Amino acid sequence: MAEDFHVALLTSDVLRFADACEGPLAMPTEELRLEAERYLMHTYARLPISIARGRGSRVYDLEGREYLDFVAGIAVNVLGHSHPDLIAAVQKQAQQLLHASNLYYTEPQVKLARTLVDHSFAKKVFFCNSGAEANEAAIKLVRRYAHEKYGPDRFEIITMLRSFHGRTMATLTATGQEKVQKGFAPLLPGFLYVPFNDFPAVEKAVTNRTAAVMLEPIQAEGGVHVADRTYLSGLRDLCRQRDVLLIFDEVQTGMGRTGTLFAYEQLGVQPDVMTLAKGLGGGVPIGACLATDEVAAAFSAGTHASTFGGNPLACSAALAVLRVLLEGRVLEHCRRMGDYLAKGLHDCMDRLTMVKDVRGMGLLQGMELAIDGQPVVMDLLARGILINCTVERVLRFIPPLIVTQRDIDRLLDVLSQVLNKRV
Ligand SMILES: *Cc1c(COP(=O)(O)O)cnc(C)c1O
Repeated sequence: MAEDFHVALLTSDVLRFADACEGPLAMPTEELRLEAERYLMHTYARLPISIARGRGSRVYDLEGREYLDFVAGIAVNVLGHSHPDLIAAVQKQAQQLLHASNLYYTEPQVKLARTLVDHSFAKKVFFCNSGAEANEAAIKLVRRYAHEKYGPDRFEIITMLRSFHGRTMATLTATGQEKVQKGFAPLLPGFLYVPFNDFPAVEKAVTNRTAAVMLEPIQAEGGVHVADRTYLSGLRDLCRQRDVLLIFDEVQTGMGRTGTLFAYEQLGVQPDVMTLAKGLGGGVPIGACLATDEVAAAFSAGTHASTFGGNPLACSAALAVLRVLLEGRVLEHCRRMGDYLAKGLHDCMDRLTMVKDVRGMGLLQGMELAIDGQPVVMDLLARGILINCTVERVLRFIPPLIVTQRDIDRLLDVLSQVLNKRV
């Protein structure tokens, strides 16, 4: 019966559609680039390669060239590319049920929520599809919590300069960077910005109107700046005393990136609300907003929603990722590789005056240069290595968590050559 249905489909339009799709797959990069310019909005400055497939810590372009991947889809592919457990989970779920909506219960969503709760401070989870949406949910949640408890005047959220929280109207307002906000006024009212790692600044900014303090434990897009432990414990105490909620945006630092499942575990402070996305689905889009029971109670039926949020496909992928991270030795491996990479980068700094600083935790490492970083990114690309540069001068290294010592040696070797050439 099911077979007949597929045969009927295949013999008609679907075959013609498949034929029509053949062309673009074999398109050379230059042609693809021209079509991209023509058909896609110009929101990205893309590098001149097109990635066709990946395996482990490597990706391959349309022409078959190999690249060692120290970007991992911007800290997304935590298990590397084509991890067999992730493939199996996605295939199995695709055969069973792709989507059902939140009008009904689905098992993968509940199992994923339970797994996240079992391994974090949180007691409840809301699922969505991206980092911005996760932060959007967090912003709505803390506003509603404060509104219900203290009335409509308590809505302000203190965020950090140099932060990054996303590109929706609320999250770009939360983002403490003018270049992200430029041209989109009027922004959302109720956001205040203070310098990162500056406790007195937060202390001064908190008033009876403050609903929450929101920050990344490591400012990643902002140039890889790690929050001090004393700063965070100061924030924790202050927030507790004033019943101000503490939100950690772990969209980039979560899911093992720093060597523990979440960065806060190593920083000695638990937030009231935490957001996740990027690595959560290992490449399948999914985001999550986690909170304590008391805070989560501010959302009742009908206050927040997402059609795709917590969809069975995305949740099955995330469950597979979590299983590998928790049952394998990936976190321990990430800590070791993170230390090894950091040491190599520090050695590089000792040899070269153009390297100003090396910062990070686990496999989220940044190298601040005295020169523009983009030419360095291009030089590495030409030598078959993908790295990323943020805030003009900070090279960012965010490989899959399964990266090997040999991969790191190769990166360090090529990076040294490239930087030496630019002295
Ligand atoms: C990437 C990122 C976001 C935004 O995530 P999207 O999935 O692009 O919406 C938010 N916060 C942090 C810390 C991020 O790194």
